[in-house]
Amino acid sequence: MALLALSEALENMLARLPEPTIIEHLPLNECANRILAEDVFSPINVPNFDNSAMDGYAVRVADLEQNLTLTVAGKSFAGNPFNGELKAGECIRIMTGAMVPNGVDAVVMQEDTQVNDNGSITFNRVPKLGSNIRRIGEDVKQGELVLAKGSLLNVASLPLLASLGIATVPVFAKLKVAILSTGDELTSVGQPLAEGKIYDTNRFAVRLMLEKLNCEILDYGILADDPTIFEQTFTKAQQEADVLITSGGVSVGEADFTKDVLEKLGEIGFWKIAMKPGKPFAFGKLEKAWFFGLPGNPVSALVTFYQLVQPALAKLSGLSAEKIAKLTQNLTACSAMNLKKGVGRQDFQRGYYYANENGELEVRPVGTQGSHIFSAFNESNCFIVLEAERGNVEAGEKVTIQPFNSLLR
Ligand code: AMP
Ligand code: MG
Repeated sequence: MALLALSEALENMLARLPEPTIIEHLPLNECANRILAEDVFSPINVPNFDNSAMDGYAVRVADLEQNLTLTVAGKSFAGNPFNGELKAGECIRIMTGAMVPNGVDAVVMQEDTQVNDNGSITFNRVPKLGSNIRRIGEDVKQGELVLAKGSLLNVASLPLLASLGIATVPVFAKLKVAILSTGDELTSVGQPLAEGKIYDTNRFAVRLMLEKLNCEILDYGILADDPTIFEQTFTKAQQEADVLITSGGVSVGEADFTKDVLEKLGEIGFWKIAMKPGKPFAFGKLEKAWFFGLPGNPVSALVTFYQLVQPALAKLSGLSAEKIAKLTQNLTACSAMNLKKGVGRQDFQRGYYYANENGELEVRPVGTQGSHIFSAFNESNCFIVLEAERGNVEAGEKVTIQPFNSLLR
């Protein structure tokens, strides 16, 4: 089987995956980490009225050009506007956020004024027209697009909707994701470990990442390497879930057996991706559910989840293409050490990047890079992404790094 470039695998996969169709209307405080299902336009102007940016005095500039002393005709406080008419020679005491009265064309901050014994105010100088006035609609105009369909609703976006008085928004339904691990050697965390057995790392890692991605999780546990059990469980998954994620059993040898079951239930491609770690990866569709088969090695499972399943689930959850492209970001850093690299596959080495004393980005590899060495993840904060055709890297050479996004932090 020829090796497939990661970029090609991603493109192929994303092109096939549809956007979700089920929409729910939820109150804002239940929308954290959901994805917006329709464009949202502002029902109001923000600010909703001209208001003061300072504590001070609201004036008419032409009056101050005549005389720098004005009498105070009233006050406008935030939430309690001045309702009268500003006459010649008058000013209004005004506070930050308070409505600017009719006829006013500047606000002068109180530090630039003196209060006289008779209560009148003397201004240090004539202000510029419009100074210290926040104009209606300056932040958001009524009818303007504020958040596009496919946006992630989070701390950066939800308060904006709240400021517009929007109480409920249409969001896509959560993805239902079934997870399972395959392998006779696996033991669930919390159970005693018999000889020759190992703990199931992958289902735990996948669950954590799915929680971050705000998916609904159906945990099918550990599956023994037995075709009958596979068939039963996969059949259940396609009735209950939108997506099935498995780990293990996709490498050569075992693949044939998993493949038979999957091909019976749907249409599955076993890909050998030109990436390290993470070569074997399966993608396809059971009758209803999408299928992702991660490699068994925990590092490979995590790296393929991050690089392939993360964008795939984002697409199935409704995140816009533009936002999917920004899930990972590439930077350039100087390698602080020699890096071992074989030609042929794209490497995702675990690294730690930092700014050196000159403020330039530098990166060093963390731990040994074996696909069974999970401990290296704990110390790392980025992938060092080395091109397929590249060989060993010498200290001082420039390399591409991909800082971990919130999925791995
Ligand atoms: P496989 O792809 O099933 O051949 O597994 C490859 C390697 O990963 C083997 O050493 C497995 O024991 C190990 N492995 C498979 N699944 C898991 C898992 N869920 N947690 C930890 N190690 C695993
Ligand atoms: Mg196995």
